[in-house]
Amino acid sequence: MAHPIITFSEAEAEDQPKILKAFPKAQFCEKALTPDELITQFPDTEILCVFIYTQVDAKVIQGLKNLKLIITRSVGYDHIDLKAAKERNIPVCNVPDYGSHVIAEHVFALLLSTIRCIKAGDERVEHCEFDFHGLRGVALKGKTLGLVGTGKIGKNVARIASMGFLMNVLAYDVHPDREAARECHFQYASDLETIWEKADIISLHVPLLPSTKHLINDQSLSKMKQGTILINTARGGLINTKALVKALHSGKIAHATLDVLEHEQNIEEDRALIDLPQVVTTPHIAFYADDSMQCMYDESFATIEHFLKGEKLTHKVEGL
Ligand code: NAD
Repeated sequence: MAHPIITFSEAEAEDQPKILKAFPKAQFCEKALTPDELITQFPDTEILCVFIYTQVDAKVIQGLKNLKLIITRSVGYDHIDLKAAKERNIPVCNVPDYGSHVIAEHVFALLLSTIRCIKAGDERVEHCEFDFHGLRGVALKGKTLGLVGTGKIGKNVARIASMGFLMNVLAYDVHPDREAARECHFQYASDLETIWEKADIISLHVPLLPSTKHLINDQSLSKMKQGTILINTARGGLINTKALVKALHSGKIAHATLDVLEHEQNIEEDRALIDLPQVVTTPHIAFYADDSMQCMYDESFATIEHFLKGEKLTHKVEGL
């Protein structure tokens, strides 16, 4: 393939120069195209590089007759029909880690902005009120952070919390990583109950699975300390929103700082939560930073180069 036809979907304007530098003949679109739009607008595509909102379903895979490689610039690949790709013998590759530190850093952006009243303070100053009263913060040093999940992101959060903020970090994971616990200075609890009971601040870093759906519910909330702070940058479905709203009203949860919501496709359903003053939300941006975006492209470009040279594809999605 001397000059393959490469299509990048969901390529933002600021990322297009780097795409053209690497592949001068690449074609791209900024938005996530529907399967029909993808097939009609880019019918000759040989290599397709997408992000998470482009559905690469069986229709796309069968409709793009020259397709030879699919890459998603994300960890997750549930928007790609792996079975249809396998049937056409088309490899699917992802970017397994585009920078867990970026998500971990957002955890502390959310946490600090909440407990140090940054939004309220800024609004006050903008209204020409230069007065600290009523904006008393919460210090982190010596507090106990309960981490649920110590994978790539959880480990980074543990390291920043223990070594940066001098917090006590207590974690739970179905697959404990003892070496990470030593390196990042945290301890494992033997069960989740201990996390609920001992933590001042709880941060979630597990995938959304049938076993983790609504992990935060009436029962788990009832075991937490009065005034616990809850952080969720993993998946909205980990939290039962109704139960969280109740816990915020009762003061069981003092603050919830959330990058993800249970109903991201229809946030009106989460209105009762979002509107509470003790709740700070961001629109699923934890992953979205200069380093991570650069890494997503660098890794995808490397995969394309390996493919063109006939080399082994290191980030081939398992099961194919
Ligand atoms: P990872 O796979 O490296 O780690 C997940 C950890 O959860 C693993 O150590 C696993 O053993 C543990 N785990 C699984 N089920 C568990 C359970 N029932 N109880 C306790 N531990 C359990 O994943 P990661 O890269 O650290 O990402 C964590 C989550 O963060 C992802 O699943 C994803 O949902 C989310 N995420 C969000 C953003 C964002 O922009 N907000 C970006 C990337 C990832």
